[in-house]
Formats: sequence, structure tokens, C-alpha cells
Amino acid sequence: MINLEELKKTFRGFIALSEPMSKYTSFRIGGPADVYIEPADKFDLVKIIDFLKTNNEPYIIIGRGSNLLISDEGYRGVVLNFESGLSNISIKENIVTAESGVTTGRFVDFCIQNNLAGVEMLAGIPGTVGGAIMMNAGAYGGEISDFITEVEILRDGKIQTISKANSNFKYRKSGFSNDIIIGGNFSLPKGNTGELLKRRRELLLKRNESQPLNFPNSGSMFKNPDGTFAAKEVESVGLKGKQVGGAQISEKHGNFILNKGNAKANDVFELIKIARETVFQKNKIKLELEVKMIGFSQQEYEQVHI
Ligand SMILES: Cc1cc2nc3c(=O)[nH]c(=O)nc-3n(C[C@H](O)[C@H](O)[C@H](O)COP(=O)(O)OP(=O)(O)OC[C@H]3O[C@@H](n4cnc5c(N)ncnc54)[C@H](O)[C@@H]3O)c2cc1C
Repeated sequence: MINLEELKKTFRGFIALSEPMSKYTSFRIGGPADVYIEPADKFDLVKIIDFLKTNNEPYIIIGRGSNLLISDEGYRGVVLNFESGLSNISIKENIVTAESGVTTGRFVDFCIQNNLAGVEMLAGIPGTVGGAIMMNAGAYGGEISDFITEVEILRDGKIQTISKANSNFKYRKSGFSNDIIIGGNFSLPKGNTGELLKRRRELLLKRNESQPLNFPNSGSMFKNPDGTFAAKEVESVGLKGKQVGGAQISEKHGNFILNKGNAKANDVFELIKIARETVFQKNKIKLELEVKMIGFSQQEYEQVHI
């Protein structure tokens, strides 16, 4: 069991016990984390991670929890969140430097206000810069990695700067799965604020038309398989509207699962299994989860990843 008194001596940030993760996920689902920490800044973070590693304490990082399914049992270990402590954003000429905890919305606004173009497509993707870098988030033909020059990470106990060439960005993933992302540098072309605001508005409207945003959800559950769309596959096997407990495959968009009220992580998990099995049986396509599962057993994890 974690030695809280010792831990508290090592850092300055915020700490809570048995914190419900449903407060921190866009699904509004997730049981308690044993310990929840918001480091005060990146130097505080280094000390905390050093403490956790020395004491063999399991930990995970969450952003805004917009790509997460956290189990009903929650997480046995420490959950770290950077929104309050790693939230600086600054600009030098056309280079924007943003820390991980900056929300994607604030990042896009900041770039537009400074007449810098390119990242408007991220508007409407909930989350943080850290989560977006980890997931290589993107939409409408662009990805966050398009404009990254460097990523600052914590690896092997040291703060390091990794060039884009060494970041191994691919479709909805990066090469940082074993690292902690501290922030990134983005080189952006000049734009016109009025035009950028207009484009952002258009993209947000397009999103509102196609996505079911009236119930808590986690965005796309599955990655798009090569040559097709996950939504199309789920819809083609007749699963639109399928409900388990409080969770439902959206009637509007087959790749969204909605929390229609008091849904359990287990309800969502069952729907994921049903969607994967039915699409494989009928269309011979394996759907790969985009959403990250936290706090599930290895056996449960394998049931929806193999
Ligand atoms: C309505 C809706 C629409 C969406 N639309 C899109 C879309 O168009 N395109 C798209 O790509 N995604 C979309 N998403 C998914 C999601 O918003 C993105 O994946 C987002 O980038 C996740 O950011 P987050 O901060 O919420 O990360 P989280 O969901 O909290 O975490 C995601 C992963 O990143 C890790 N992580 C987060 N921060 C750090 C860090 N600082 N260091 C190390 N690891 C970290 C977590 O451990 C986890 O593995 C959508 C989600 C919703 C709810």
C-alpha cells in the first residue's frame, strides 16, 4: 500500500483518495482510483514519478478522459492529471509551445488568436494536448503530428526532447506509450484570424451534424479499418440502437457508444464485444479498439483486443 505521508512530503500538488474516475471521463463512467494526483508543475511531476517508481507503485496518466473506458472497479494505483499544473502555453514567432494539460480547445483558440493556421481541425476534439499527442488525434484529413516539431517527455526519470522524426507517429498512435508527455512545440503557418474562425465554426457545425453529442460518450470506439469505416461496418450488421444496460450503440453514428444514463463500464464492454464479434462473423473484419481500457483484467482486455 502506498505510503501517503512519504508521498505528500515529496511534492506540492493536489492529492485525493478514492477519487471517482467518472468525474474525469467524457463517458461519465469509471470507478474510484486509489490515489489521484495533480502535480504542481513538471518538476513536481519528476519527483512524484521517481517516488512511485522507487516504491513500485502502478500509475497512469489521464488527460480529459475523452478516449478512455475506465472499469467499474476503477484503478488500483495512482492516476495523474496535468490540467491544473502543466497548463502553460506560449508563442515565439510561429512556434507555439504547449504543455500537456492545455485543453485542445484552448490550444486551437490560442493559435487562431495569434494568426496561426493548421490546427482548426482539432476544434471539437475534446481532450488535452498531451492526450492528443499520445493518440495522434486528428480529423478532416489532418493530425496533430502534422505540425509538431518536438515533443518533451519524461523517460527513464529524465526530461528529454524528442524530434518529430523520432516520435513514430502513426494513425491514432505515437511512439510514447511508455513515456509521460510533458508538452510539445508546434510550427504553424501564418493565417488570417477571421478566416480561421470561420473554418473552425464550419468544422464544429459539421461535427454536430454527424456526431451524437447529446449523451456522454468517448468518441469513436474503433479505429477505421483499412479501406472502410468502423461506423459503416457496425451499421451494416444491424447494430445501430443496440442497447445493453444503460449503454447504447448510437442510432446516429455506428461507431459511437452512448451513456444513456447510469451506464456501467461493463455495459459498454459487452457492446464492444457484440460489435466486434458480429462484424467479424458477418463481414470478416476485425475491429481494433481506439478507446483505451483502464482497470480491466488481462483476460477482459484480451477478449476485445485479439
Ligand atoms: C465527442 C468526441 C469526439 C471525438 N472526436 C475525435 C476526433 O475527431 N479525432 C480524434 O482523433 N479523436 C477524437 N476523440 C477522442 C479523444 O478526444 C482524443 O483521443 C483525445 O486526443 C484524447 O485526449 P485526452 O486528453 O482526453 O486523453 P485521455 O482520453 O485522457 O487519454 C488517452 C490516452 O493518452 C494517455 N495520455 C493522456 N495524456 C498523457 C500524457 N500527458 N502523457 C502520457 N500519456 C497520456 C492516456 O493514458 C491514454 O492512454 C473524440 C472524443 C469524443 C468524446
